[in-house]
Amino acid sequence: MSKFTINEFRKKYATDAACLDKIFTLRYGKLQACPECASPASFRRITTRRCYQCKHCYAQFYPTAGTVFEKTRTPLSDWFYVIYLFTTTRNGVSAKEIERQLGVTYKCAFRMGHCVRKLIGGMDMEKLKGFVEMDEAYYGPKNTDSGRSLKKSVVFGMVERQGNVKALKMENVTKETVYPLIAQHVNKDAKVSTDEFGLYISLRKDLGIENHGVIRHGLNKYREGSISTNTIEGYWSHLKRMLHGTHIHVSGKYLQNYIDENSFRYNNRKNQHGMFEAIINHLPKRENE
Ligand SMILES: [Zn+2]
Repeated sequence: MSKFTINEFRKKYATDAACLDKIFTLRYGKLQACPECASPASFRRITTRRCYQCKHCYAQFYPTAGTVFEKTRTPLSDWFYVIYLFTTTRNGVSAKEIERQLGVTYKCAFRMGHCVRKLIGGMDMEKLKGFVEMDEAYYGPKNTDSGRSLKKSVVFGMVERQGNVKALKMENVTKETVYPLIAQHVNKDAKVSTDEFGLYISLRKDLGIENHGVIRHGLNKYREGSISTNTIEGYWSHLKRMLHGTHIHVSGKYLQNYIDENSFRYNNRKNQHGMFEAIINHLPKRENE
């Protein structure tokens, strides 16, 4: 597996101008003509602002408008570096780490981390197929009781073996909240494994999932033939390692952002080289596209 090395990264995005060029290319690169004067597209970068100008009519374009970079005074090269950090770690990037590496305040570092997580979240994904495992996990402060306790946040997850994961913070896990998500994210022909939790009892009847196997954890069983939830359990333990290990405590308000970050890294685990591009490519497109 090839990696996007720090040297490659530095070569490409050494300066703010290089970063701005990248953003401009992503958002305006496909334009054949100037939207203002319709002349063949030809723009120059203005050096004093994050701005490009049409060489024909002098109309100005701000490629960071409407993106997380719009109002920031932090250099774009610092932002790009933080995004790069997110693609190279296994257990996430803490605000402390960003603070230390960039020499910015903790508050600024915290905000940058969450802006990057927002950029990572909400990426489209194909429906899960083949062998799919589903499960819920409970996350909360370390010292509360384990299991399905009220103090904790509940997360529902679906994972394709050897494939992608989709995990979502829930208000509660009931048929009303969970089944629509399964219908949205899991192919009906998938071979689904769950534990014996009552929630999953009518996957066949309500969602038409014909192939549903149950592994009885209550009987200390963890695999029977192809029925197992070990993949999703592995995902949960990795998620908890990131939440407890890297971030000490994560409030419910931000939990989904951390989950999205972890899922993104999981889904791109064989594609470290492409991760940076995938995040940058997720900048919102211009409205008229
Ligand atoms: Zn023009």
